[in-house]
Amino acid sequence: MSTKGPEVIVIEDGALDKIGPLVKDYSHPICVTDSLIHKDYSQHLENAIGKPCRWLMAASYRANTNTVLGNVDIVLGFGGGSSLDVAKLISRDTGINWISVPTAASHDGIASEVASVSHNGYKYSEKCKGPMAVIADTSIISRAPPRLRLAGLGDIICKTSSLAEWKLAHEVKEEPFDEEVYSLVKKALESVLASDRLETLISAEIDAGRAMSIFGSSRPCSGTEHAISHAMDRISGELHGLQVAFATPLCLHYLQEVGCSEYKPRKMQDFMEDREMPTTLSEMAISSEQLIDCVRHGLKIMEKRNRYSVLHHLNVDDSSLKATMMDLGY
Ligand SMILES: [Zn+2]
Repeated sequence: MSTKGPEVIVIEDGALDKIGPLVKDYSHPICVTDSLIHKDYSQHLENAIGKPCRWLMAASYRANTNTVLGNVDIVLGFGGGSSLDVAKLISRDTGINWISVPTAASHDGIASEVASVSHNGYKYSEKCKGPMAVIADTSIISRAPPRLRLAGLGDIICKTSSLAEWKLAHEVKEEPFDEEVYSLVKKALESVLASDRLETLISAEIDAGRAMSIFGSSRPCSGTEHAISHAMDRISGELHGLQVAFATPLCLHYLQEVGCSEYKPRKMQDFMEDREMPTTLSEMAISSEQLIDCVRHGLKIMEKRNRYSVLHHLNVDDSSLKATMMDLGY
């Protein structure tokens, strides 16, 4: 197994205080964050790194423009998804290293090399580089809104679908496959199905990000359920992880039909309902027609990326989709 991934990973209560030694050889840190995190934790972070820091609000950063950064030699992404995304983009554009300091466990990008960039209502993935360290302070992350943690959980349990579909695509269409990467993601998935601990979730998210870096694409962690979510972004502002989890039972239904899934859609829905994650159209505030349209659009996204979908495999038509949604209680 490649060791590709962050050199240092600290997941614990008070982890922020361990950041000092990591940045001691750097003179000009820049920290990307948002105004709420800045208000609550900027002093704490500066104390921990032991030197003043330049602050950049993620919302004021515009990709592919000449945001003036000046003399900086290390980037810290300190916040949720968009702060980490901007840190990744700055790191890519300047060539300097970045450190991931997540303040929520809301998705599997906390240690990945892929930044999500919005354009015309769509979210695109842009390849950057992975963080040299992940500092996950559970005393901070545990104070994030509970829905963010549920989204993070959703972005892991959807691997029930992405892994099974990846294997199918390999067997039927000879898409590249890696047994060790598969095992790494499977282990992360099983760990969160077995335990509700925050540390377990964060660790699973880091491993999923590492798996994508090792494999060189998001395919192990992102199948049709992700493509449907990307299509949903056009009409819904719901969190990524809740969208991908919402689409997962639908995909699992078809994966099970071809004998590829060991996870039953109903079982995953029970898991989601127990934790009050959205599982129905009304909870997602979309109509069945809109979901069908998102599935169709998602399949186009899969084709564009040369990824084989279980729905292609079964030639699933709209009436089958409707019946399955009804049957699963969407
Ligand atoms: Zn995801």
